[in-house]
Amino acid sequence: MAFKAQTFRTLGKLAIDFRTFGKLTLAGAIGASLVAGDVGAQQKTPSPGSAKAIFGAVKLPTQGPAQPIGFYAKGCMTGAEALPADGPTWQAMRLSRNRRWGNPAMISLLEKFSQDARAKIGWPGILVGDIAQPRGGPMFNGHASHQIGLDADVWFTPMPAQRLTYEQREDLPFTTMLQKDKFLTVDPKVWSEQRAELLMLAASYPQVQRIFVNPAIKKKMCDTWTGDRTNLGKLRPEYGHDSHFHIRMKCPPGDKGCTGQAPVAAGDGCDKSLAWWFTKEPWAAPKPSAKPPKPPREVMVSDLPKACSAVVNAPSIASAEAGTYGGPSAASALTAAPAAAPPVDTGSALPSVGPVPNDKPMVQ
Ligand SMILES: [Zn+2]
Repeated sequence: MAFKAQTFRTLGKLAIDFRTFGKLTLAGAIGASLVAGDVGAQQKTPSPGSAKAIFGAVKLPTQGPAQPIGFYAKGCMTGAEALPADGPTWQAMRLSRNRRWGNPAMISLLEKFSQDARAKIGWPGILVGDIAQPRGGPMFNGHASHQIGLDADVWFTPMPAQRLTYEQREDLPFTTMLQKDKFLTVDPKVWSEQRAELLMLAASYPQVQRIFVNPAIKKKMCDTWTGDRTNLGKLRPEYGHDSHFHIRMKCPPGDKGCTGQAPVAAGDGCDKSLAWWFTKEPWAAPKPSAKPPKPPREVMVSDLPKACSAVVNAPSIASAEAGTYGGPSAASALTAAPAAAPPVDTGSALPSVGPVPNDKPMVQ
């Protein structure tokens, strides 16, 4: 049912896009709306007292051990750790959002993944997008999930050789992997074998359960991946996810408060479940006779698992630096070296493309 409701919301957006992009073909309009994915801009400001407002205002994680509480799209967390803004093989993006917090298992995975990406496939390093808020919980904009510290977004854009400034991390545009004038088609000028390898590397870790990618990217992988396909089924088609991919970890073993998700079905996923995305159904406008769906009620803290009320009020750690992986020196690296970074090459590698992609609707 959650799926249905979310689909309706998307449909409303598409109806607007069809008018906006009057000159484009229907298929083109669908593609464009996928790239835009600007749900954040449409969302009204959360009411004071809503879970989004409360968790969004918290600046620091709780003290004590790390614990994911609840489900990826309905929960919170204790004891989060922050990914340092910089590492040898990563740079964190959009620092103003304060969403570099995650379960320590996720922070370790990102470090390992970025190291392996460089060592095994020559990817220079990863740009890391949103992980979670300091205590998880629902966000103002951009995601339905990312609430328990076990989801992380990684850009399809490689880490540049230079260290980006704070401002560049705010402003660097997303680069879609899709062709703008075609329906659900990967752009061969942007896509690369190395990106395919990056996805399969991410899928290779046993603690990774799913990786969300745009249906066009999943299809491209199905059509072209000639290596071991054992983990191809972990790549799950989803709206958006055309300029970043989304890594979802399993609940850490023994974490009883963490509500897991069913494992992906056996097989490579290059089947009916993928073919559905290429039908009209996911993109169809609502039937005129259908009653307009009621806007969903705002999620309150009391709608989350009971323990999340205590998480809101639990004492904070002393500072963000204290909670950063690698300690205060890792945390302060960005501010400690204000050297003017060379301008980012926004030429062929980084064409300018639309606003923040997001994870709506939450199907998986
Ligand atoms: Zn995501």
